Amino acid sequence: MVELTFLGSGGGRFMTITQKRGTGGFILKDDVKMHVDPGPGALLKSWEQEEDPRELDAILLSHCHIDHTNDSSILIEAMTNGATQRRGVLIGSESAISGTDGGSTPFNFNERFVERIETLSAGDETTVGNVSIRATPTIHSDPTTIGFRFTTSQGIVSYSSDTQFFPDLVKWHSDARVLIMCVTRPAKHRIPYHLTTTDAVKVALEVKPEVLVLTHIGMKFHLQGVEEERCAIEERTGIRTIVADEGKKLIIEGDAITTSL
Ligand SMILES: [Zn+2]
Repeated sequence: MVELTFLGSGGGRFMTITQKRGTGGFILKDDVKMHVDPGPGALLKSWEQEEDPRELDAILLSHCHIDHTNDSSILIEAMTNGATQRRGVLIGSESAISGTDGGSTPFNFNERFVERIETLSAGDETTVGNVSIRATPTIHSDPTTIGFRFTTSQGIVSYSSDTQFFPDLVKWHSDARVLIMCVTRPAKHRIPYHLTTTDAVKVALEVKPEVLVLTHIGMKFHLQGVEEERCAIEERTGIRTIVADEGKKLIIEGDAITTSL
């Protein structure tokens, strides 16, 4: 069984500082447990969902923007049991691990208690327990940003991270049973380096996931009405589409993918 727990569907600077939608990223549980893109609130939202961060085996950071990394330091602290045990894996883009792109390294002294630190570029592959992870390319303002394609015991779960549309995006996320996309903007409000709902439809129609998950919803999208857009996407694609709101879970077991909430 694979379980995904979402800790918020928000993203972008104004959503992040107002927390109209949470920015805690998501947790993927297979034989191992990982937290992906722990933005502000990740620690608190984990506990609210009764997810103990001391059980984490890995923390993954797609890039160094604060809505994806803010709580990484405190989660490392938890994963290493208060920096008393050498355990866990930290995986990230060059910017997230080395603090390039003008950002600073988000970690405290506690990173030295992590068992392994890995910097991935697009195309690189690594494993954590029974899950293999391939870094996928993006076009984003942090040029080393990567997405993550997880090969789990129940098939492929793929996460676009922040990117604008490019034709190869489809190829990198092909065969995903669950496709998690950072859809910042509604159709008519395109900005560089981010996806719109139109892009999400285009990608979903080609990847044909069983479930499409919308996350990283920016303020403009939020104010315009997310539920309407979600329904419209579902109608145009025929693909079950959900929003990554706090506490929402997807359970993948055999042929079935079930949703809570
Ligand atoms: Zn970003």
